[in-house]
This record gives sequence, C-alpha cells and structure tokens, in this order.
Amino acid sequence: MSAEVLVRGSWVLTQGPQGELADAAVAIAGGAILEVGGFGELRERHPAAEVIGDGTGVVTPGFVNAHTHLSEALATGIGSELPLAAWGEQIIGPLGAVLTTGDAREGTRLRAIELLLSGVTTVNDMFVHYNPDEPVSQGVVSGLASAGMRGVVSFGAEDVGGWGSVDRMLDEHDALAVAAGGLIGFRYGIGTLLGQTDELLERGIARAAERGWAVHTHLHETRAELDEAQARWGSRPIAHAERLGLFELPVVAGHAVWVDADEIALLAERGVAVAHNPVANAILGSGVAPVPALREAGIPVGIGTDGAASNDSQNMLEAIKCAALLQKVHALDPAVIDAATVLRMATIEGARALGLDALVGSLEPGKRADVVLFQDAVEVGVLHDPVGQLVYGGSPRAVADVLVDGRRVVRDHRCVTVDEAEQLEACRPLVARIARDAGFAARGVSRAG
Ligand SMILES: [Zn+2]
Repeated sequence: MSAEVLVRGSWVLTQGPQGELADAAVAIAGGAILEVGGFGELRERHPAAEVIGDGTGVVTPGFVNAHTHLSEALATGIGSELPLAAWGEQIIGPLGAVLTTGDAREGTRLRAIELLLSGVTTVNDMFVHYNPDEPVSQGVVSGLASAGMRGVVSFGAEDVGGWGSVDRMLDEHDALAVAAGGLIGFRYGIGTLLGQTDELLERGIARAAERGWAVHTHLHETRAELDEAQARWGSRPIAHAERLGLFELPVVAGHAVWVDADEIALLAERGVAVAHNPVANAILGSGVAPVPALREAGIPVGIGTDGAASNDSQNMLEAIKCAALLQKVHALDPAVIDAATVLRMATIEGARALGLDALVGSLEPGKRADVVLFQDAVEVGVLHDPVGQLVYGGSPRAVADVLVDGRRVVRDHRCVTVDEAEQLEACRPLVARIARDAGFAARGVSRAG
C-alpha cells in the first residue's frame, strides 16, 4: 500500500513502542497510519507521497484534551475571582438560560481554532448548560464536525435548584447520543453528583447502564464539595458514587483534587480514569491534584483545559506546561514529574482515560492519523531535547500542521476548516447578546453588550 502523505520531523515523538525517532516521518494512507520510521526509507518506499514538514520540526500524536466544556465557549474572561459555587450561580446558571443551539455551534467552532492551534485533535466535552426550550448540547456535535475534530460529547446539566425536569434532561442525553456519530463519540454526563437530585442521579446511572454508556463527570474538585456531600449523604462523593454503582460503568472523572489514599485505591480498583485540569484548578483556587499518587496507583490521568469559562483559554500547551509546574511547586521538588510524563498524559494516557487508545494517542501503524507538526517558530526551532522544549517552550505559534483522521485541518499555521477572521465576526454579536440577556452587562461582569 502506498502512503498519500508523509509528515516529517527532525524528531517524531511516537508515544508508542517505537519511542522517539530522529529524522523520521509518519506515513499516512486512507486516514490511518501506515508506518512510522526513518524519513529516507519511507521516502524511498513512498516516492509519490506528499511530504509535510521540511525535517526541522517536531512531530507528535494529536493531543487529547481530556476535559472541557464547550458550552462555555462564549463566556471567557469573566468571573475568574469567584469561588466555584458563586461562579456557578453568577456565570454558569444565567448563561445556560439564554444559550441557543446556534451559540453552541458557533462557540464550538471558535474554540476549535484555539484547540487545533494548540495541537488538540480529540476533545472530551461536557455540555453544562440547560435551556428548557431546545436541546442546545447538539450544537457542539455540529461545531466539532464542521471543524473536522475528533471528540466525545456529553450533557452534564444539573437539576438541583429546580431547573429542568428529570425526564426532559434524560431525553437530552438520549438525543445527544443519537446526534453523535462519525468522529464524535458519546458519554453520559453527570456535572457533579451534588448538582443532581437523587432522582436524576439514580435514574441517570440506571439509564447509562441500560444503554451501555460510559460516563464523564467531575469528582472531588473542591474541599467545599466534601463538606456538602457529608451533610447531604453522610459520606464523601466518591463513597456515595460507589454506593450508587456508578463505578460499575467506565468513568472518566474531572479533577480528583481532594482524594485520600483509600479513595485513590478505590478509583484504581474500579478502573476510574482521571482528567487533570491544572489551569482551572489554579484559577479557581481549588487545589493541587495528587497526580503522581494517582498515576502510581495505575490510574490513567489525562490532561484537560477545562471549560473556557474556568480556564479561560483552550490552549492545551498551557495546560500541559502547568501540569508539570503545579506539581513541582507544590512538592518543592523539580523532579516530582518530568516533561516526558506530562507529554504522555496529554497523548496516549489521555486516550486511555477515554477508552480511545486503540484508535489514537500514539503514532503507531493501524491507528487513525491524528498528527501534529510543530515547525517554523522560535519555540521549537533550536532543539537540545525535543520533549523538554515542547512541554516548557511550546506555543500555538509553533503549530504548523494538524491532521485529524488523515485530513489536514491546520495548514501552514492556519486553521483551514474554520476561518478565524470570519468566525470572530460571527461570534461578536452572539457574545454581545449573551452579555445583555444573561445580565452580565447590567451587573458589570461583562463589558460587551
Ligand atoms: Zn469541568
């Protein structure tokens, strides 16, 4: 079989059994990786293939953003000084009531540019807003599909506080599962256990078990969550989830910041995966997740940006760097985690956390061709160690080309599936309308509107 494309780099960091290859390339045909090896050899075997890359750059698997909320795509840069509960009440709640399917689609397309230009090819999303008038979460599916991204979508709106009937919310999960397809998979979403009434929690878990759905949730993000759960159920959320049978389903849990040794052992035993969100944890002052202990217990830990409203960026390179920085400064030990580990977390380990590791996460023959080339920028242009340079010095400026499923979605540093200038133009009036209708402008939270 002949390759259609060779993606060439001075280094190819496969994150798979072939390790790190110098002066190498990835050969691609039919959207899949055909072989990975020395550029000279591959060039000889595939003389007709188009070559992307001049041999000076660094090639990696596409990054897996293990946790975000594209429903927040048009609400960035506000509320960063609020603690989690107040942020939910003042920003997230009012936003949900005015968000439309069109907003969700256009916001997703806008952030897709930011995701792709920081090397993300797969995004694990949870829609956390609820609009009783329309199934808004489906806007994310069409947004991701039109941007040519791979993803997993879930709906994680909450019903404590009386907004939304349980039946209506369960219907939206079903509708989203049907809407997903192509490169977009589906998980059952549970925003937080505490945000749901016991009825939604129990019926939702039963529905997921019945349908064979995996689950995406948040667990033990803040210390306040532990006290609230203690007051409501007489136990911490993880113990309550175990009682409800949640961990009998495949679960990826955002955060796991406040977990003790017994809880880490339980999560490991139950095969629960964790999505670590260092930037959002720092912005909200939530704490530092015990990433080394989680990984030592055998838990797959991916890296997420978290939502655009709690980060406030979808720049995955920033999240990767901060994953290392946060552990180092917390442990007062620069060796507590290394660059190679965080790069693995952002690629193959994130894919494993989502159950997608047979498909993506590393550059291996037979996997789908999700590939990033970093090239033509100061940030990666002079290399001693490609891994350290990428993790601590990487920048969207250096993202030259991105392929998802073999399709080139970023070409010469520009996203070609969504035009950046046009998308900004399309989103400005939406942001102004949201600022007015959600009351952000009147309350002085937003200067748009
Ligand atoms: Zn989150």
